[in-house]
Amino acid sequence: MKIAVLPGDGIGPEIVGQTIKVLEALKLNMSFEHAPVGGAAYDLTGEPLPAATLAAARRADAVLFGAVGGPQYDNLPRAKRPEQAILGLRKELGLFANLRPAIVYPELAGASAIKPEIVAGLDILILRELTGDIYFGQPRGIRQLPNGDREGFDTMHYSESEVRRIAHAGFRAAMKRSKRLCSVDKANVLETSQLWRDVVTALAAEYPEVELSHMYVDNAAMQLIRNPKQFDVMVTGNLFGDILSDEASMLTGSIGMLPSAALDEKGKGLYEPIHGSAPDIAGKNLANPLATMLSAAMMLRYSLDQEAAAAKIEAAVRKVLASGLRTPDIYQPGTQKVGTVEMGAAVVAALS
Ligand code: NAD
Repeated sequence: MKIAVLPGDGIGPEIVGQTIKVLEALKLNMSFEHAPVGGAAYDLTGEPLPAATLAAARRADAVLFGAVGGPQYDNLPRAKRPEQAILGLRKELGLFANLRPAIVYPELAGASAIKPEIVAGLDILILRELTGDIYFGQPRGIRQLPNGDREGFDTMHYSESEVRRIAHAGFRAAMKRSKRLCSVDKANVLETSQLWRDVVTALAAEYPEVELSHMYVDNAAMQLIRNPKQFDVMVTGNLFGDILSDEASMLTGSIGMLPSAALDEKGKGLYEPIHGSAPDIAGKNLANPLATMLSAAMMLRYSLDQEAAAAKIEAAVRKVLASGLRTPDIYQPGTQKVGTVEMGAAVVAALS
């Protein structure tokens, strides 16, 4: 199993470093090829996604990604910014389906900003389409109007085949869980969403066991706070999914706990924590490495067909949480505060 390892910027190298230790401790037949990405790659080569990094990602069976970005890169032209590397990898590798679980571990229910009774036991999966929508639509730009005013504009669009592909992924995921799928759109206002809803509705005939519902995105944003456990699998477009999955992440109390996967049609994927490069805590041994470790577990499950090893990592994470160890982002009085390195060592120890 060949893994391309792209640690990136900020806390990326710290959390990925600990995760590699966990993967090595599993003693599977895995090889790791490291490559720079994001700001680190820009500093070395002038490009956030150098051709050699893209080639390593193409060669690999799966990609383990840390995070990219930092204030020192914020004034670069858009094409050179670290975040372009993620968009480029998604596009070049055809990673169209973003799987974002939001799970509330019993020990962390009190860490959520929402009342524990609303979130305890939460286990939902948000599927976000990743390669279409307004993020990639043309034309886009900022133009000068005849009256001297400036205008920014973007184009939202989805083709029928793009919707069908992500909807199939949503129905398949629902079949593996509690057979409930909620499709989120804004069909009361947007033509793109009307087509989305029509296509998803038509597809439901192929999955008679799945109970399909539709919800407008504004209501979905509200329902995720009011009663998140009503959902099982949610499927939505790129823009709405970006926002809703971040919202769902906060139900769990820490952005440092949530893994994600971006898959192509054959199941090859890029695995990364949902958080960014956290420049405010980079290099201080403060970052929570658990989201990256749980991303590695998803990698074992979805791309490498190693369910037992995936479950082993997840069990080790639960064991460490149950033992009371916490990085500062999930610390509560009565638990024991540890750093990135100590948390990594504890998960490795809990594997055996
Ligand atoms: P962020 O996710 O990096 O940080 C938000 C807050 O959460 C910060 O206070 C940070 O310290 C904390 N945090 C994040 N991950 C943590 C972890 N593992 N453990 C403990 N605390 C953690 O978001 P931001 O501050 O908006 O962005 C910082 C940079 O990251 C920007 O350049 C942004 O563009 C980039 N970014 C990258 C990705 C990615 O690589 N996929 C995603 C989002 C943001």
